[in-house]
Amino acid sequence: MKPKTGGKIDCDVLVIGAGPIGCTAARFAAKNGAENVLVIEKRQEIGSPVRCAEGVSLSWLEELEIDDLGDAIKWKVKGAKLYSPSGHKMTIGKELAGDEVGAVLERDVFDKEMAVLAAKEGVDFMLKTTAKDVIKENGEVVGVKAENMGEKFEIRAQLVIGADGFESQVGRWGGVYDTLKPSDIMTCFQYRLSNIDFDPEHTHFYLGSVAPGGYLWIFPKGEDKANVGLGLQLSRLDGNKTPKDYLDEFIEDHEEFDKGQAVDMVAGGVCVDHPPDSVITDGLMLVGDASRVVDPITGGGIANGMKQAKIAGEVAAEAVEEGKTDEEFLSRYEKRWRKRLEDKLWRNYLAKEKAMELDDEQFDMIVDALSDQDLDELSTEALLKAVADKHPELVESFKDML
Ligand SMILES: Cc1cc2nc3c(=O)[nH]c(=O)nc-3n(C[C@H](O)[C@H](O)[C@H](O)COP(=O)(O)OP(=O)(O)OC[C@H]3O[C@@H](n4cnc5c(N)ncnc54)[C@H](O)[C@@H]3O)c2cc1C
Repeated sequence: MKPKTGGKIDCDVLVIGAGPIGCTAARFAAKNGAENVLVIEKRQEIGSPVRCAEGVSLSWLEELEIDDLGDAIKWKVKGAKLYSPSGHKMTIGKELAGDEVGAVLERDVFDKEMAVLAAKEGVDFMLKTTAKDVIKENGEVVGVKAENMGEKFEIRAQLVIGADGFESQVGRWGGVYDTLKPSDIMTCFQYRLSNIDFDPEHTHFYLGSVAPGGYLWIFPKGEDKANVGLGLQLSRLDGNKTPKDYLDEFIEDHEEFDKGQAVDMVAGGVCVDHPPDSVITDGLMLVGDASRVVDPITGGGIANGMKQAKIAGEVAAEAVEEGKTDEEFLSRYEKRWRKRLEDKLWRNYLAKEKAMELDDEQFDMIVDALSDQDLDELSTEALLKAVADKHPELVESFKDML
């Protein structure tokens, strides 16, 4: 099918947003039998501009049935280093370091690659096409009002998937959830710095008041270049000081970065809330950042979102085949993705809430305690147990999580 504007377009599954998650949901819907799958994307180029630190592990590729990421992987690292405010350091191998450590992507190439995989399954794409509102009939979402280069038209679908990212409007139009609280938003700022002198074999994380309520990251993109950025809790922003001010201060204090040159800048938000009660309504499923499945501790959303998107695509194909797209049928999507992801999301949300209360001295004690441990697992539980050995008073308030 080659969708044309003018009048009305009909499809079986309509995906709003050609980020990696929307493309993956579309890919698995088509792969599992949905014939007429359309993705609309408001930007003119998939993946650009990049709003990401581009850190991922590669441990989830097999689950996503991806053989090779080719040029989308820019750099690989051995593991991660964590720094406390006074300079205690802890090194973690990549096999322990979770879903955001292992490789650094070229996000624009990666996103396009995810679109190519979907296109190979027969998915259609319309660029520069913006969803303006959902169309509801008898309370059920049956499509969207869309606009392509000034032309307004309707797209009707048996099932709509909202994959429109952190600022999702589809979720709100569909009445699925409310706006976020400032304490559940990380506000981020990043430079891609070139000509820097640092250890490019690890990703680096700085904790404490360098980024209140969040952390500062250095994700290598080569021997002498890296994404250097930070995310801090929106509700902890101090007066007129912006995330950029915090980052500039860090860079000024670190000679190895201060001589670097920024070749791009990224600003954006990340939701670090717990998973919402529901991500579905009649005729509509939400997926990826639009469904708030970003890891609340790391702020990484690619791995979780793609795992969830595979399930969304599978359920979309089942829904189309059985001709049932009501909330009751779609609850099988809720059940499956929550079984796969929800425990860890909740646990990390609770750990994040506790971590927000820590001061620099406590971060020092934690990193100091961990630096001489030989951890064979990097779960929240393993970390807490390791800290408890040296500083039982520190984990007192986390006791219920153990
Ligand atoms: C500064 C920063 C650093 C980050 N670093 C990492 C990291 O290192 N690792 C990691 O795993 N995650 C990271 N993330 C999070 C990660 O970027 C997201 O989790 C990921 O992009 C989610 O993918 P998505 O497809 O759900 O949404 P997006 O990638 O945001 O894609 C949504 C798409 O929908 C389109 N769209 C929106 N509205 C409409 C509309 N009305 N009509 C049509 N199209 C629409 C948008 O143009 C966009 O292409 C970071 C985020 C930020 C802001």
